[in-house]
Amino acid sequence: MSFSITVVGAGPAGLYFAYLMKRSYPGYDIRVVEQNPPDATYGFGVVLSRRALDFLARGDAEIVARLANNMEHWEEQHIVHKGELVTIDGSGYCAVERLALLHELHSSCNDCGVEIEFNRRINNIVELGDCDVLVAADGANSVVREAFPEAFETSVVDLQNYFAWYGVETAYPAHTLTFVARNSHTYCAHHYRYTPGKSTFVAEVDKSTWLGSGMSLMSEDERKVTMEEVFADTLGGRKLISNRSLWRRWHLIMTRTWHHRNIVLVGDALRTAHPSIGSGTRLAMEDSIALWRAFQTAGTDVSSAFKLYEQHRRPVRGNLNKAAEAGRPWWEWAATHERAFDAAYLALGCLPPSIGPRATGHVPQMIELMDRLISSGHAYAAGGDVYFDVRSYPDYGALSGQRPDEMQQGESACGSKRAANDFTLWKAAKPGEPAWPTPWGPGRPGWHLECSAMASMYLGPEFDIHGGGLDLVFPHHENERAQSRAVGDGFARYWTHNAWVTLGGDKMSKSLGNTLSIDVLLQRVRGAELRYYLVAPHYRSMIEYSDAALSEAVAAYRRIEAFLHRVRERIGVPTLSDGVLPAEFVDALDNDLGTPGAVAAIHTVVREGNAALDSGDRAVAAAAAASVRAMTDVLGLDPLGEQWRHQQGAAEGAAGVALSSLVEDLLVQRAEARAQRDFTTSDAIRDRLLAAGVIVEDTRDGATWTLKDG
Ligand SMILES: Cc1cc2nc3c(=O)[nH]c(=O)nc-3n(C[C@H](O)[C@H](O)[C@H](O)COP(=O)(O)OP(=O)(O)OC[C@H]3O[C@@H](n4cnc5c(N)ncnc54)[C@H](O)[C@@H]3O)c2cc1C
Repeated sequence: MSFSITVVGAGPAGLYFAYLMKRSYPGYDIRVVEQNPPDATYGFGVVLSRRALDFLARGDAEIVARLANNMEHWEEQHIVHKGELVTIDGSGYCAVERLALLHELHSSCNDCGVEIEFNRRINNIVELGDCDVLVAADGANSVVREAFPEAFETSVVDLQNYFAWYGVETAYPAHTLTFVARNSHTYCAHHYRYTPGKSTFVAEVDKSTWLGSGMSLMSEDERKVTMEEVFADTLGGRKLISNRSLWRRWHLIMTRTWHHRNIVLVGDALRTAHPSIGSGTRLAMEDSIALWRAFQTAGTDVSSAFKLYEQHRRPVRGNLNKAAEAGRPWWEWAATHERAFDAAYLALGCLPPSIGPRATGHVPQMIELMDRLISSGHAYAAGGDVYFDVRSYPDYGALSGQRPDEMQQGESACGSKRAANDFTLWKAAKPGEPAWPTPWGPGRPGWHLECSAMASMYLGPEFDIHGGGLDLVFPHHENERAQSRAVGDGFARYWTHNAWVTLGGDKMSKSLGNTLSIDVLLQRVRGAELRYYLVAPHYRSMIEYSDAALSEAVAAYRRIEAFLHRVRERIGVPTLSDGVLPAEFVDALDNDLGTPGAVAAIHTVVREGNAALDSGDRAVAAAAAASVRAMTDVLGLDPLGEQWRHQQGAAEGAAGVALSSLVEDLLVQRAEARAQRDFTTSDAIRDRLLAAGVIVEDTRDGATWTLKDG
């Protein structure tokens, strides 16, 4: 059978895949296109853990055995810090010259008949002609992937550290991380031998060293000389060798989609690995094994093969990328989550807060609160930490309804605490953690202090409502309340504790892997529909997420929307300010925010309004519509309100105008046919519209139309 595969890129991923496929399917037409000549490469050696070799041997044990013979092997890792060597046990490592690896793959490909076309750069995939499968193995800057940015949705995260890959003519005994401090800057090198006389030498600095030491302003030559000086002892005075060794920041590339049409991504084109977790080469070759195996199961069913490949590989890649992302600094994570949170709030129509204060910006207020607590005898400092003295506050436990002697804070045991259930207000600084100065020593807030300090700053000593998840009642809210009330602040008058949205019976949590993000759900439903789904149950009830329940909520919201649109078409836009809130609606909300009763009241009025429309009672229908707008407005769900009209505008505006104009044209033709008593034509027009999902109704005021629900 004729089956053709084109691979763009003769790196480890492209070559290994081409070889594995040709070996299994000699009849397939497989070619690899590579921009460089056969002897070009970047970097020097490639380091792998010995376990990685076992993984790669699952593709072809012979190639891996041949490579292993030409590899350098060692057992442990070394760390050199301030000149002192620490040996870390490991499970064994090996390294090979990158060019030797590529040559091994070239000759394996040649032996089994894969055609490799060197010196041909692909600028546009149209140049490649037709094939059954196009494998994008063209590395981190993949041209194939970038030809379909919307399909693959690539995201790039710039890591903060700067790197350059050098070589050096010496052989280190093991993979070594050497740290050197110089003029209050820190430099790091990862170095390992990949032949008996040559080593890779990756130099790395963080951003403060990059800027502070002047490296950012140096030429590439000057940077090389600087590294030779900094690491003179490690290099034994040798010169570094450059092979287009440019200093750069590492980009973590991720794609949301792995395949599109007949194109599939592998290796660095799919996702890059963090350099500190090493094995970009191993990951790339494992992708190839997974894709080859998927074809072995799916045969020539390309789309099934792609799905299998992704199903098998995505979890593995996901874990490694999580490890890679951990290299981002804490403040960058904080900003990323803050942006995601704001975007989710906006998408769900939540009002923005007057202020979103940050704990890190309120350390003086925290110091003041601790000072008040210590001087009033409710807190004490010990060993750089500051603790709240639970026994000093008799009302402790009132919020969560527990006896203090039965309460455990869930904090790690600490010898400086006077009582085991005292809780931490401030933690002494630890290396590597952010810290601020205080009269009791440098450190950072515990989990509770900042909330009381910020609440009293922005809301005053006493305020109305404090919300939060059910799981926060104890210890967080109990402790907030205690530390504020102990110094005489009234703090919250009312507490609202909401239950969770659960998935598979569990609270959604990243560690359980059972999360659903707002942006994923918003690809399926509109913001107002998702908001309705979350608002309709009582805030204290658990919402067990299911697709079916979400679809029901969407249908229910669309019934409300359809009623308002019918009224708008026939009578005019219902006025929000004329709307009366029925007693059932008000009573339900007055009773502990009983949204299920409030939503039921909306649907009752929708039903009455629809009946009034059907019977031609325009006054009742208009009043019902105004009332529905008023009620939905209270819940932030008014379909005709500013919020949701805008959100629909971008997605549906142009399409909506085009649809209206086409439908109205057809209705004019239908009216003309009816006027001429040509009922065959008029019925045909109505049926055509119905088949397209448009319901036409004849009323005393002429024909009106609505879209079918769902
Ligand atoms: C300097 C450096 C040193 C590294 N050192 C290590 C290491 O020690 N250990 C390790 O495991 N990983 C290392 N990595 C990462 C590792 O090289 C990659 O993760 C791995 O090579 C990915 O393999 P790949 O086949 O997906 O992509 P690549 O190896 O990048 O291969 C892609 C191929 O596609 C070709 N190509 C690109 N665009 C086109 C085009 N438009 N037309 C035709 N051909 C094209 C390129 O020339 C290249 O040959 C290093 C990376 C760099 C940049």
